[in-house]
Amino acid sequence: MARSYVAEARRRVGPKRERIVPIVERLIAEHPDATIALRFGNDLELLVSVMLSAQTTDVNVNRVTQKLFRKYRKPADYLAVPQSELEDDIRATGFFRQKAKALRGTMAMLIEDYDGKVPGRMEDLLRLPGVARKTANVVVAERGEAQGIVVDTHVRRLSQRLGLTRQEDPVKIERDLVRLVPRRYWNVFPHLLIWHGRRVCDARNPRCDVCVLNDLCPASRVDVGTVVARPGA
Ligand code: SF4
Repeated sequence: MARSYVAEARRRVGPKRERIVPIVERLIAEHPDATIALRFGNDLELLVSVMLSAQTTDVNVNRVTQKLFRKYRKPADYLAVPQSELEDDIRATGFFRQKAKALRGTMAMLIEDYDGKVPGRMEDLLRLPGVARKTANVVVAERGEAQGIVVDTHVRRLSQRLGLTRQEDPVKIERDLVRLVPRRYWNVFPHLLIWHGRRVCDARNPRCDVCVLNDLCPASRVDVGTVVARPGA
């Protein structure tokens, strides 16, 4: 029963290859302000902010980095203080011991191997201690050179609801998305899903009745008969 309902819903909305561009364009129109919520002024601050954002909110990170970036301006500054001092300075972001260790390891490698600069290539970023694929993806995307699509909890939930992937694992979801989403949208796509996830497609209580994607979404809870056709559908 559930299975045939899902199959019917997928048939109703049509193939994902035909839906993807209208989905992205409607979300761009709906969330023109969808950008990264972290505040940073240069590549180093971007990298540090993203590293600190693991397991906490962007608001929390911004609160901490407002002071942090006045004190730590270059990679050497993170190594010039005892680790315990750096831990205290980032304590409010949680997991501060691991994060301080990762930051110091990363700064040491930036100085040693990259002339104190944040490298632009994914494979170089992935060498940095404590920098996983998601962090590296965010950094390259923000510099306008997305080489992948960042998959966080919102991106995962919305991609699944919209029938863009059937995978659970973030790496496999990303693989599906990069095959489907035109490259010109790779930078903005995660932000769109994140903002749509926060504002409309809540994990427990999706507001399908006001969602601009409700005629393109197989998980829509809106009665099929009441879906209003939109331009570009
Ligand atoms: S129609 Fe509902 S489930 Fe689909 S994206 Fe919109 S809010 Fe989410």
